[in-house]
Amino acid sequence: MKNFLKIPALILAALLGGAALAGCDSLLPNPIGGEHVHKDYNDDGLCDDCEESVRAELTFLAVNDLHGKFMDTDEQKGLDEFTTYLKNLYADPAREEILLSSGDMWQGTVESSSTKGALMTEWMNEAGFVSMTLGNHEFDWGPDILQPNSELAEFPFLGINVTYNGEMPDYCKASTVVEKGGAKIGIIGAIGDCLSSISGEFQKGLEFATGNLLTAQVEAEAKRLREEEGCDFIVYSIHDGGSGFSSSGVVSVKNSDMTYYDTALSDGYVDLVFEAHTHKGYTLKDEHGVYHMQAQSDNRSVARADVTIDLARGRHTVKTSMVSSGTYAASSIEGDPSVGEIFGKYFPDENPYEKIVGVNASYRDSEVVEEKVAELYFEKGTETWGEYDIVLAGGFLRTRTPYDLAAGKVTYAALFSILPFDNAIVLGKINGYYLKKNFIDTTNDDYHVCTKKGFSSGSINNSQTYYIVVDTYTAYYKWNNITEVKRLDNKTYARDLLAAFINEAGWA
Ligand SMILES: [Zn+2]
Ligand SMILES: [Zn+2]
Repeated sequence: MKNFLKIPALILAALLGGAALAGCDSLLPNPIGGEHVHKDYNDDGLCDDCEESVRAELTFLAVNDLHGKFMDTDEQKGLDEFTTYLKNLYADPAREEILLSSGDMWQGTVESSSTKGALMTEWMNEAGFVSMTLGNHEFDWGPDILQPNSELAEFPFLGINVTYNGEMPDYCKASTVVEKGGAKIGIIGAIGDCLSSISGEFQKGLEFATGNLLTAQVEAEAKRLREEEGCDFIVYSIHDGGSGFSSSGVVSVKNSDMTYYDTALSDGYVDLVFEAHTHKGYTLKDEHGVYHMQAQSDNRSVARADVTIDLARGRHTVKTSMVSSGTYAASSIEGDPSVGEIFGKYFPDENPYEKIVGVNASYRDSEVVEEKVAELYFEKGTETWGEYDIVLAGGFLRTRTPYDLAAGKVTYAALFSILPFDNAIVLGKINGYYLKKNFIDTTNDDYHVCTKKGFSSGSINNSQTYYIVVDTYTAYYKWNNITEVKRLDNKTYARDLLAAFINEAGWA
């Protein structure tokens, strides 16, 4: 298989088709310098001349939205068992594996977020990823962090539609080509229409092409990969997906069911789609017979597609299966030591899972945590900027997996998981009209506010300027019309205020 001669599948199919019709091998030309071209007229999977296999047996494994879930905790499985699962698959010579990610890998836990993705990237090298499509949360520390991580990564970051000041940045590529089992696989990556979910502070200069422009980009790249690079199979890895799907089996969908995907791409451009971003688990089959898979999030499952590519006939079959962590991280499976070693390298002295900040006397749900953060913003703000008449604090505050705070001893790592974002705390000014519209009268359930004692919203004057305390995510959301006046620092975040509060026995 190693010496298999690559010629584009379409040309090969045409050549074989012509020869098969004529029923005569001698009609099959030797297109390049007399090298051997496999042919399989009796369709037994072996070359009629050299008897080597003409079928590539590949297993695609796709991970999405891992959100930094690296170490074992009470809430989730760590990556040690998953690493064992991968290494066992790699050791089996029957198939060749291709492991890829569709984004949102770094943001979410203390070990991954506080290393700004470096620890996770190092694990991805160890695990053998061939590519990672950029997700919106890869931009949570601004575009500056992408370059050093792309240098650390032994695989490319993909984002065909990402531009910074009008150009594709150095840290990403449109696609990559992988050769396995005698086949050439093209992988195209794209980010979805999620620029607005990135903190406004970091959106400047950044653009993600969408709609017809994105479709044209992917079509052109798929064509180039097939015709110029000789790819036999094209995978599309997108950081976007359906939110209305959730299934264990295969669900047939219509074009109109997939607002985030242009089904024209399934008409000869891409052969298999791996999705992300909505954290749903599903396998869809679109009107062209192309499969779309998304594997939930947070190390809960991995999307698997076993693909047989008939290299002599330019066709393929796809068999999908969703593998849950209950299988790949079953208690009988021993974890791979590399995961603990990478953790130890980044946290040689203080383990954030052992660092207890205090005690929480009872279970607090996400709402209680979010309201408390708004209160702590108010306290911190009035204590820091006492010279300003601060009338309100809070803003967009939403906890992340596992969302709530369990009763008992609280680790810094646990607070980090529910409040992972590095959004600095700022004093902002806003006029009365927007204060009322976006904070007091908002219908957005993710907005939580704490107001000054005795402050009455009825007394707000539309054209007057008011001072409020929010974080940079809320301050730089452009529709809020807030101007940053002062910044606390770039190292104290919501989780730190909550850690101090719990440390002072606030919830004991
Ligand atoms: Zn995500
Ligand atoms: Zn996302």
